[in-house]
Amino acid sequence: ETMRRDFVANVSHEIRTPLTVLSGFVETMQSLPLEEADRTRYLGLMAQQAQRMQTLVSDLLTLSRLEGSPAPGAGEWIAARELLEHVLQEARGLSAVIAEPPHDIAADADEEIWISGAKTELLSAMSNLMSNAVRYTPPGRKISAGWTHREDGSAEFHVRDTGPGIAAEHIPRLTERFYRVDRSRSRETGGTGLGLAIVKHVVQRHGGQLDVTSELGKGSTFMLVLPASRVRARSRR
Ligand code: ADP
Repeated sequence: ETMRRDFVANVSHEIRTPLTVLSGFVETMQSLPLEEADRTRYLGLMAQQAQRMQTLVSDLLTLSRLEGSPAPGAGEWIAARELLEHVLQEARGLSAVIAEPPHDIAADADEEIWISGAKTELLSAMSNLMSNAVRYTPPGRKISAGWTHREDGSAEFHVRDTGPGIAAEHIPRLTERFYRVDRSRSRETGGTGLGLAIVKHVVQRHGGQLDVTSELGKGSTFMLVLPASRVRARSRR
């Protein structure tokens, strides 16, 4: 009950901020005659706030869909490399927009692995981890990602960044909804505080887990681990 109350309070707070800004601009535009340049600037800022609310609502819907539906079956086999290529491309695109110079984003593993699960969910989890790496790592620095087959037959998707790192006491709380280590950085880069909650749900539904290792000042590694039952690999093992 407490969690439910906190959640509703958090959601309301997250929505109220952009809504206040947006209605502020609406009022200004209603009461003042504006120069064309100001008008354009205000509309841009209004669009930004509306976009922020849209992203938030879309993440909330994703979470509630994940909670309300049965775990995906083991029917569809997907080439891990295809998913990797997809999220690498996407991350390079994001980096080109928000970082100058853009990050050096590369694959650091090339094993032939197939995984079974819900493709859109897995892509969304991988892409959340990549976008965090891009958003929290200073421009120009290195980010690498890849799928590897582990000794025990499980498979791991990892994203290594060279960003600020995360202090140990925050790590267990990262997947809580709206938990942020650095509130201003998260906002600045369009974060909703829900990304890792979504990732955790997706992995758990697939019978896996999310692991995080990090060193302050050096960077972080996020690992999405899928159980052996969902993995096929052509490899030395
Ligand atoms: P957000 O939308 O705020 O990024 P997330 O749930 O994706 O929300 O992440 C929660 C918090 O974890 C972030 O606000 C940030 O403080 C921290 N975090 C996530 N990924 C990284 C990373 N790669 N490097 C440093 N901090 C990170």
